Amino acid sequence: MTSEKTALITGTSSGIGLATAIGAARAGWITIATMRDTGKAEALLKAAAEHKVADRVQVKRLDVVDSESIAACLDEVMAEHGRLDALVNNAGAAKTGTVELMSVDDVRAAMEVNFFGVVAATRAALPHLRAAQGRVITVSSVGGVLGQPFNEAYCAAKFAVEGFMESLAPVAATVGVDVTVVEPGPVASEFVANQNLDIPALLDVAGPYAPALEAYLGLRRSVFEGAQTPTEAAAPIIDALTAARPPFRIQTSERARDFVATTLADLDGSAVQTLTRTWVR
Ligand code: NAP
Repeated sequence: MTSEKTALITGTSSGIGLATAIGAARAGWITIATMRDTGKAEALLKAAAEHKVADRVQVKRLDVVDSESIAACLDEVMAEHGRLDALVNNAGAAKTGTVELMSVDDVRAAMEVNFFGVVAATRAALPHLRAAQGRVITVSSVGGVLGQPFNEAYCAAKFAVEGFMESLAPVAATVGVDVTVVEPGPVASEFVANQNLDIPALLDVAGPYAPALEAYLGLRRSVFEGAQTPTEAAAPIIDALTAARPPFRIQTSERARDFVATTLADLDGSAVQTLTRTWVR
């Protein structure tokens, strides 16, 4: 077993996951940078070389909607390193639309990657995290607290992530595992581009929703103009990896904090955790 702490991060081919992998390696972690297509590792490996952490970054295949790939990846990590101290559930995908314009299968697909992927990776990692007294950090979103127009499926999945993790946190704490959710606001990653949204085609079929959709898409463009960089969004994730006791909930910017404060009174989740932990001891 290595004496060095090991973190597994999902979805590291771009954006917040890539920046988190580099940040974790720079903070001294052995970083298992996973992606569903390891052919997309070039940007990560280039950044690792630039930051002189290539020896601490190991690329492995993991598709969060493929349980076998999760199990195979964890088996390799345990065989090679003998420990897993942190899981960062970062992989996720945008889904723009409204229910009448989407199929139920579209909604299911958004849940698969953004919610069930998190469930599957967390479930598989927990025995190892328990052994290491480690932690699970999950990249949620401000959309996991506040439902946003034309984001029904995405926000439903992120709300599910928040409910799942908030319920798990007091239970995991009884076996020495910390649970944290991270809520970014807009981040200038590949998030919007990766959706490959055909906006004219979407507007064409939007019928009575077209004016509202057009207004929303205009607002989204302007909101993303002031987006954080992936490195800025990753910094609080690295803090959560290294803190002695990370809070349950972390917003990645003042802007994200102000936004979720519209609905949240318990900004860092400590009030709910203080209450629910009394139920299991
Ligand atoms: P991104 O650049 O699109 O990165 C998403 C990553 O997830 C990519 O590496 C992508 O891989 C991966 N991924 C997608 N489906 C996957 C699967 N089935 N298995 C494994 N990996 C998969 O966007 P990002 O902004 O960095 O997103 C990271 C997280 O932040 C997501 O959970 C997202 O919901 C959350 N978030 C983003 C924003 C924002 O404004 N950008 C705001 C709030 C929350 P491929 O390259 O193979 O597609």
